[in-house]
Amino acid sequence: MIALTLAELATAVDGRLVGADPTARVRGPVEFDSRKVRPGGLFVAFDGEKVDGHDYAARAVAGGAVAVLGTREVPGVPMVLVADALAAMGRLARAVVDRLPGLTVIGITGSSGKTTTKDLIAQLTVRLGPTVAPPGSFNNELGHPYTALQAGPETRFLVLEKGARGLGHVRYLCDVVPPRISVVLNVGVAHIGEFGSRETIALAKGELVEALPVDGLAVLNADDPLVAAMADRTRARVVRYGEAVDADVRATDVTLDERGRPSYTLVTPEGSVPVRLGLTGRHQVSNSLAAAAVARELGMPLTDLAEALGGLGLVSTRRMDVFDRPDGVTVIDDSYNANPASMAVALRALAGMRRDGRTIAVLGYMAELGPFEVDGHREVGRLAAELGVDRLLVVDAAAAPIQAGATAVGNWGGESVLLTDQAAAVEVLRSELRPGDVVLVKGSRYRTWEVADALRVDTG
Ligand code: ATP
Ligand code: MG
Repeated sequence: MIALTLAELATAVDGRLVGADPTARVRGPVEFDSRKVRPGGLFVAFDGEKVDGHDYAARAVAGGAVAVLGTREVPGVPMVLVADALAAMGRLARAVVDRLPGLTVIGITGSSGKTTTKDLIAQLTVRLGPTVAPPGSFNNELGHPYTALQAGPETRFLVLEKGARGLGHVRYLCDVVPPRISVVLNVGVAHIGEFGSRETIALAKGELVEALPVDGLAVLNADDPLVAAMADRTRARVVRYGEAVDADVRATDVTLDERGRPSYTLVTPEGSVPVRLGLTGRHQVSNSLAAAAVARELGMPLTDLAEALGGLGLVSTRRMDVFDRPDGVTVIDDSYNANPASMAVALRALAGMRRDGRTIAVLGYMAELGPFEVDGHREVGRLAAELGVDRLLVVDAAAAPIQAGATAVGNWGGESVLLTDQAAAVEVLRSELRPGDVVLVKGSRYRTWEVADALRVDTG
């Protein structure tokens, strides 16, 4: 971050200094885990359900914190007192980014692929200048300011994923860290339980382009009608990416190799170049186009762009992470999280990677689908069967409609089994896996992580 005096900091967060020297300077980092505090930093004390950060205030100061931002006084501790520590952290982040005129903030939202695309964009911007991007998702009202506060005078790009769980959520995140470039990937049914309909989800995601200034840029997926329609909701210039013939940044002639890695011709107003991705899955065409549209806008020449796209790798774990085991089994670990759309892309990748053995899908429960829960699971099962997946291991009784969806496909030649928990799935896999098999592991957060981990440690 940039250095602020405690007086400046208190003004920024609308707080009151107690027992603190107004001229003392905070240089960062800003931490809410007292063990991470370093000299010159600020400790934020959250009064959580399990832990009260104020109990660690003295320890944080002993560790070098200049002061503690919190909601009540702690004897002997220099405090910045506020009514709401989370809101104050947001205001502090805003004050810091407002003092960094050389910073370009890139915000990303969508139902699937935010973290993946955030990582792709950051891998491109880092070639153009110092970049701050969080590890993993960090897409909420805490992760956002926390990440933004890591930006300093040297930082050129801040790349942030914006998660939406309801209307107004993205707008709030944009108030904390206003984007200059907003990327909207897709509108699916992730979290539809909380939203009610896809149209409401589109409304919520569109807040990202509404927040843009006139000289900002909206990067919209031309292949998703609900996203393309967001062009009408922004004052900023619009760049469209996708496979649509009228997209500004386009992919044509898409092919996949035997590992499911896409190649395509990147078509831009400056010309065309061949691109070969090292990432797995057809959906990476779309994600990489979004990243390409951003990098091109930031001035990356086309030839550099093609080379950079070819060098993109995985950063955040459990997302389409493909690995070969010594026993000849290939695993696609996409277990980080799941919704019907991301299940579909992962199943298509699995089907496309068939070798001489079987294709096996270990699928877990998808959370947060609300009234679409049963249909969402059934659809996934139906697709697995239609794609000809040989073996379906469904983990958890709650995911049973996946099995029902698959078996309802009359001519499906595969087999399915419903397992009570992850340990049972691991046991089945251990006894069944043979060289040449390709296994996909996927479910909502943590619900298939154990399976993926077991496949990783097993030597086979
Ligand atoms: P979360 O809301 O959990 O933070 P996210 O939007 O950040 O999710 P990622 O973690 O990037 O999403 O990706 C999750 C999974 O979604 C991937 O592993 C992949 O299966 C799928 N996915 C990635 N990109 C796309 C895409 N463009 N369209 C559909 N599915 C995708
Ligand atoms: Mg994410």
